[in-house]
Amino acid sequence: MTGPLVRPGPLTHGTELNAVYAIARIVAETYDTEAGLDAVFRLSRTIFIFDVVSLFLHNEETGELEPAYALALGRGRSREADLAWGEPAASEAYRSGQTILRQEDAGPSVEGRERRRDYLGLPMMVHGRCVGGLVFGRFGGPSYPPEHIRLAEFVAWHVGQLLENRRMARRIASLEAQRELARMQDEFISTISHELRTPLGFIKGYVTTLMREDATWDPETRMEFLEIVDEEADRLRELIDNLLDSSRLETGRLGMTLEPVKLATLLRDSVSRTKSAYPDMEVRLELEDELPQLQVDPTRVAQVLDNLLSNAHKYAPQAPVIIRSTTQDGQVRIEVQDSGPGIPAEHIPHLFERFYRVPDRKAAVRGTGLGLYICRKIIEAHSGEIGVQSEEGSGTHFFFTLPVPHSQPVPEAEHER
Ligand code: ADP
Repeated sequence: MTGPLVRPGPLTHGTELNAVYAIARIVAETYDTEAGLDAVFRLSRTIFIFDVVSLFLHNEETGELEPAYALALGRGRSREADLAWGEPAASEAYRSGQTILRQEDAGPSVEGRERRRDYLGLPMMVHGRCVGGLVFGRFGGPSYPPEHIRLAEFVAWHVGQLLENRRMARRIASLEAQRELARMQDEFISTISHELRTPLGFIKGYVTTLMREDATWDPETRMEFLEIVDEEADRLRELIDNLLDSSRLETGRLGMTLEPVKLATLLRDSVSRTKSAYPDMEVRLELEDELPQLQVDPTRVAQVLDNLLSNAHKYAPQAPVIIRSTTQDGQVRIEVQDSGPGIPAEHIPHLFERFYRVPDRKAAVRGTGLGLYICRKIIEAHSGEIGVQSEEGSGTHFFFTLPVPHSQPVPEAEHER
């Protein structure tokens, strides 16, 4: 049966007015659609009786009407079992755009209780467009009187508004995410171009100078220029390697080759690389007597250590660096501590994000914000954790953990110290 069921007319005052007021307010104020629907339907039940309510929404991609929500408030009802009954009434209301009342005879009455079922199907209208159907079901009670049908229509409009609010909120969030992505891409391109241009500028400048036919250079100056060209070319390669690593890590294409490795060797090799790169840097090792053997990708873990040490050199120059290790509960924890300027608290939660750099240090030190992101991904790929503790003015303390395999080889009495 289709067609307008009730003619417009005033609502009863009192409880109903309070409930409709509260429903309208929930719609205006709620951000949590599921909780909002629960609250609206519980309030609705104070003004007209139903045992179950279900909501079907039109899916624009599949063209189907799909169940989106169900709530059973009557005795012994379950959402799942009661969902199926709502579909025909929801479809009819959706197709016709009208409130419909279906009555089903579910067999002879039992113990004086009627087995008739009433389904009230309401179109969900949003800005003049029908987006689905809402169905109230009442089992075995008196049929819906016209004033209840009008209240149900009121609830349906408000539920429609609640869903529209959700659609708008999702759309805004998605537009904001797109804008943020575009902003990050722009920033990425400008950072990367700047970072690529700087070493290229040096290389081009010094090579052009060396090639000048109207000038001659003594061997020392020539060697000095060539060393700069060499260093800047290394920097360029490192930058490109970092970019490639970070994109492979992001897409999970950077494979790790795990093998047995002595932690002592890893640490010492990294320290000696650092010392040869930065001869002025003071690095102290405070290690346990017996360092474990690990099952890790040595190149990648060395990359993490080298990165933390080179950051200490970049951001905490002249400050001594201490490397510590402790083994506990099947994990080894490695710490790299400097006594440099530290990191302001508000930046700490973001340090391991891709391209994140502490803003006011950007100009002073060259970098891309990829180093710590790469470290985090490598440590996570080994089932470890990485973190930082830092306070402005009191230095920075990076740490990471790696699992220690259960079966350890007999500890060597003498490991390199
Ligand atoms: P990059 O060095 O290329 O900027 P990282 O990801 O290695 O990128 O580091 C992110 C940021 O963390 C740096 O820009 C720097 O501000 C901060 N940082 C890293 N290590 C230290 C440190 N030891 N002391 C102070 N700040 C640091």
